[in-house]
Amino acid sequence: MILLVAGGFLLSACGAEVEPTITQGSPANTLAPENTSVRGSLSTPESTGVSGPLSTAVSISGDASDETIIIGISLYVLVDEAEPSNQSLSSRRTEDELLEILDGMNDIWRQADIELELRTVATVPVPANVLEGFLAGSLGPFFNGFDRTFNIPGTATINGFYVRSLGRANGVTVPSTRSFFVMDTPSVFDRRVSSHEVGHILGLEHTLSDQGRLLYPGTNGMILTSQEVEIARENASKLTGMGQ
Ligand SMILES: [Zn+2]
Repeated sequence: MILLVAGGFLLSACGAEVEPTITQGSPANTLAPENTSVRGSLSTPESTGVSGPLSTAVSISGDASDETIIIGISLYVLVDEAEPSNQSLSSRRTEDELLEILDGMNDIWRQADIELELRTVATVPVPANVLEGFLAGSLGPFFNGFDRTFNIPGTATINGFYVRSLGRANGVTVPSTRSFFVMDTPSVFDRRVSSHEVGHILGLEHTLSDQGRLLYPGTNGMILTSQEVEIARENASKLTGMGQ
């Protein structure tokens, strides 16, 4: 694991090359929250245990510990606002590809009975300096510009941003903002990178004990241990305001 300090964030790097995970508290520049809506059969008095700045748009189903926990997720293709077709800065992914990735993520997370339910999929123009930051492996310009120089519509409990490049990283997670970033051509399956990052958001840490595991950095492993399932479900429940 490599620790990098960039723009006020403590980055914990992982992945085939480097796949940083930002693990330190809230970033200095927080993402704007939006209204919380809770759908489903339970009325939740207020969201609990959620301190991150990104919005919560959560739906839940049932209250039994063995039932599927549903978490809202929004996915975004980030492109250059001045020239969306600028292939050196803009992600080349399509929204349909993100939907395919989401299907694959749900195949992986089904083993924990956690379902990621789509809230928004969108292609979002952002300033070039934000994308140049990603290319250099820096998230600073993104968080500095969020809700200032650009807006992200329809954010959800978890938000995935798909970008052209992340320096040497396949993916980056910012657990405190429940957001993750994935580059266009990771060295492992797209659905695996994305699911691995969601694992970090749900409180899971790296393991080096078995390359078949989802939290082993830089492989196509997809297995969650029973303990990881327990941790992820506990945190997922907190995100949905249910508690356990
Ligand atoms: Zn990781």
